[in-house]
Amino acid sequence: MFKWAKRQLDRISSPTLDWVQVEITTHCNGSCIYCPHTIMRNQWVNKHMPIELFNELIPFIGYTDLVYLQGWGEPLLNNNFFEMVRTCKALGKRVGFTTNGMLLTEDTIQTLVELQLDIMGISLAGTSAKTNDRIRKGSNLDKVISNLELLRKIKAEKKSQAPALHLAYLMLRSNFHELKDILHIARKLGAKQIVASNLTLIVDPKLSAEAIFNDTERMDYYQNSLEEIKQRAAREKIVFDYHGPGLEDASVHCRENVRQACVINIDGEVVPCVLTNPVLCGNRDAPDGKTSRYTFKDQSFPLRGMSFGNIRNESLTRIWNKKEYLKFRHLFDPRKAGKPEQIHSKMPERCVKCYKRLGA
Ligand code: SF4
Repeated sequence: MFKWAKRQLDRISSPTLDWVQVEITTHCNGSCIYCPHTIMRNQWVNKHMPIELFNELIPFIGYTDLVYLQGWGEPLLNNNFFEMVRTCKALGKRVGFTTNGMLLTEDTIQTLVELQLDIMGISLAGTSAKTNDRIRKGSNLDKVISNLELLRKIKAEKKSQAPALHLAYLMLRSNFHELKDILHIARKLGAKQIVASNLTLIVDPKLSAEAIFNDTERMDYYQNSLEEIKQRAAREKIVFDYHGPGLEDASVHCRENVRQACVINIDGEVVPCVLTNPVLCGNRDAPDGKTSRYTFKDQSFPLRGMSFGNIRNESLTRIWNKKEYLKFRHLFDPRKAGKPEQIHSKMPERCVKCYKRLGA
């Protein structure tokens, strides 16, 4: 009876979220040069979300229309990936994930189409094999493209629109010149959406120079090129979104949708974004005794996680409605009055020193 009453109470005060992002693995078959998984490899904890924990999420999947199976890892490596998709689809949800595209076999693609997966994002960091494969080590652009051509073929054979293909391009100083060719790839593969994003978590200080927002002298070039690509894309009915390219120091917003979405990490922790995911830092100190750190504006800061609760112990409703979580989300409310410096003084340090808050 007590449990039943608790469930009813949960249902009444449950939030309606734009999406719930679930980290189902921290394993990855790639070694991208900018990724914490690669740079922090000596201390990285590789694990999969067990199906039992995923099943504990089922009541909370009802809070949203879209479940995105993504964290710091390659989702297809979780052996229960298809079961997880199946579960969400059976609940009437839209399901998406982002992949490096290397594990897309014919069988995998057939299953994704049969399951009517809604969104498949593909990560790229170059439009030539030379550039992409140098940055995304372990990836092979030619193979990824041939896998995606097969996806297009299978979708056509089955007369299926799903999954919709999205391209996610990581802009760096050394690959920006190739971004203009992304439309050619999108056209070839039937992708209707492209997002060009920035390097917002810099774990290796040497990579600071790769972030285009640090290349302030060429900001006009970046801005004009991105706008030009956007207009060309629009003429072909392709949505092209880009982040930045410059920084806005006084911003009190966050590029992540922290007010209407959340991330549930590999251990069931509820966190506002992947950058605050405790898997990046946890309590795990590096073997040499140094805590993991990141670089923000040429200074080094400890990577600190943030969690508002764990779904193993509490319901998502209870976590979402906690006073500290409400207060946190309120800081990012666009209707909030106050000077940026006053709002910044109340924000966690991780958010103040975050390129995503600056619009990157
Ligand atoms: S400001 Fe940065 S760290 Fe804070 S919630 Fe947004 S993305 Fe995460």
